[in-house]
Amino acid sequence: MIVILKDNPDKRQLDNLIAWLESMGLGIHMSEGHSSTIMGLIGDTSTVDVDLINALDIVEAVKRVQEPYKNANRKFHPDDSVIKIADGVEIGGGNFQVIAGPCSVESEEQVCEVAMGVKAAGAGLYRGGAFKPRTSPYAFQGMREEGIKLLLEAKEKSGLPIVTEVMDISHLPLFENVDVIQVGARNMQNFELLKELGHLDKPILLKRGLSSTLQELLMSAEYIMAGGNEKVILCERGIRTFETATRNTLDLASIPLLKTMTHLPVVVDPSHATGIAHLVKPMAMAAAACGADGLMVEVHNDPARALCDGAQSLTPAAFADMMDAVNAILPHAFKR
Ligand code: PEP
Ligand code: MN
Repeated sequence: MIVILKDNPDKRQLDNLIAWLESMGLGIHMSEGHSSTIMGLIGDTSTVDVDLINALDIVEAVKRVQEPYKNANRKFHPDDSVIKIADGVEIGGGNFQVIAGPCSVESEEQVCEVAMGVKAAGAGLYRGGAFKPRTSPYAFQGMREEGIKLLLEAKEKSGLPIVTEVMDISHLPLFENVDVIQVGARNMQNFELLKELGHLDKPILLKRGLSSTLQELLMSAEYIMAGGNEKVILCERGIRTFETATRNTLDLASIPLLKTMTHLPVVVDPSHATGIAHLVKPMAMAAAACGADGLMVEVHNDPARALCDGAQSLTPAAFADMMDAVNAILPHAFKR
């Protein structure tokens, strides 16, 4: 349920209303937007008397919210969320960010060389997997703790904030100096992990599950937000369909649709969505055109020898070319 307040509500009446709602066991999410102040009520509102609240002097309107996601709902927070990642690095609300880097951290030389390459081409954040969720237990599993150390070294050298994936709650202490924690597609519904991330004061990049609906993605964001961490960035990375010519099928319509459903920033990963390097640029352009808040792109200095996902990785030069194409589109991108 949302309660839309009149301009400049009487403070005493507002405090009374909040105390009364809280006494019914409801959580309250206040959102002061450009045009109005909205109180989002979280919890079981079935016994709340809508007419009684509507009759209050300070109340403009009361609406029931049908969707099960509340904190993530655009109705609770009409303005776009802008998430601060580091000094001068924000995403959402017109701030477009490109996250780029290798699928996996492989060596000091590789991680630092790619960081400098993507920085020169205009990436705002650096990615690299240290803990890798691989389909085969015999495939390279990532450099783990050592990989995080190398990423932090690349952060120091390049000045770019870093994004890396967590796979297990017990590894979280290693992520203290990581700027954005990624939840991979395979862990999108690892609810215990999501609850734990809800207690952190750190941005979370939440990737859509391989066969998850948009509502399920938003319910996973809700798990993190319900714990108090509102810094959630959503990532469309393609879904499983009957088509096997591409690794996944990029659901471009999810971008403008998610942006009506939620106020959270939405980034697109054209690398995992296609699995094919030459499709990354056109899909990145398409994602920018339909209103994405950013991109996540895999870049490797030697894709042919990459230990993971070489076929979808761009060289730093191809990434720079993609950035030029995306930057040319951004001024014409669709805005809701
Ligand atoms: C990744 O970004 O490194 C990754 C494993 O992606 P996804 O979880 O989307 O498959
Ligand atoms: Mn990858």
